Amino acid sequence: KAKEEGKGTYVMYGEEMQRHFDERMIVEHHLRNAIANNELSLHYQPLVDIGSGDIWGFEALLRWNSPVLGFVSPLSFITIAEDCRLIVPIGEWVLRNACRFTKELHAQGYEGYRISVNISVIQLMLDDFTEMVLTILRETGLAPEYLELEITESIFMESFEAISSKLESLKQKGIGIALDDFGTGYSSLSYLKQLPITTLKIDKSFIDSIDAPNNMSLASSIVTIGHDMGLNVTAEGVETQDQLAFLERTNCDKIQGYFISRPIPEKEVVAWVAARTAG
Ligand code: C2E
Ligand code: MG
Ligand code: MG
Ligand code: MG
Repeated sequence: KAKEEGKGTYVMYGEEMQRHFDERMIVEHHLRNAIANNELSLHYQPLVDIGSGDIWGFEALLRWNSPVLGFVSPLSFITIAEDCRLIVPIGEWVLRNACRFTKELHAQGYEGYRISVNISVIQLMLDDFTEMVLTILRETGLAPEYLELEITESIFMESFEAISSKLESLKQKGIGIALDDFGTGYSSLSYLKQLPITTLKIDKSFIDSIDAPNNMSLASSIVTIGHDMGLNVTAEGVETQDQLAFLERTNCDKIQGYFISRPIPEKEVVAWVAARTAG
């Protein structure tokens, strides 16, 4: 009987969907033990002040090397982790390790570097989110000024009021709030004004189109809008000298992308910084 039901489901969803479902189950299964088995790590991608060329800090980017599945892209496993709520412990692990590492950098004489951490909307919906962040800062000894949280416009789909008041209270403590992948989501400019953010990160797609012939220069419009609203503006996914030159002319504040560096494994960050600051 079970077999018949299974068959029925199979027909209903189609082969493609069934395979998709199986894949998600497999990923979820292996992800469940990823923290305990030390399969997660963080890479750090530098953000550079466009005017001075100084290193502003780093964005922490999660990496998963599964002994069974190999390297799995965060683009595929983060969504699954969100659906099964594993993003809650994983996100907490990311924040703790990113703060710990940044504090270590400071202790090694690389003072002033900041850390930007991606936060899922699932985490933001938790009642104790604010407390979790403040506890980790306390435990790692990192001052709130050195932490920035990256959120996306998907928060507009959820309990906006509750989330925005949590962000507001974290911002009051000195934590930066960046709106990631800006320009790809649903938010209108009037919504944007209500959000307690400090930084706009222009999505890579707008940076790519700088190179396109007859580009409408949306990137420079976004920089202007951001500045008019009193926000810092970062361009993500900068890959070429031409893009950098264009962004310099728009007075964009910070850049991030392969043109500066790819995300760097934790153990190689100090060497990268030393090489860059040596000239
Ligand atoms: P994101 O936060 O927008 O991060 C930027 C992504 O663009 C990273 O991909 C980075 O490696 C990539 N990137 C940076 N510069 C360039 C460039 O010049 N060219 C190109 N082609 N790509 C560039 P990654 O590391 O694969 O992460 C993908 C996404 O996964 C992130 O996008 C973020 O949304 C999510 N993610 C990563 N780590 C975490 C995490 O700890 N927590 C949560 N919730 N999401 C995370
Ligand atoms: Mg990000
Ligand atoms: Mg981004
Ligand atoms: Mg992005």
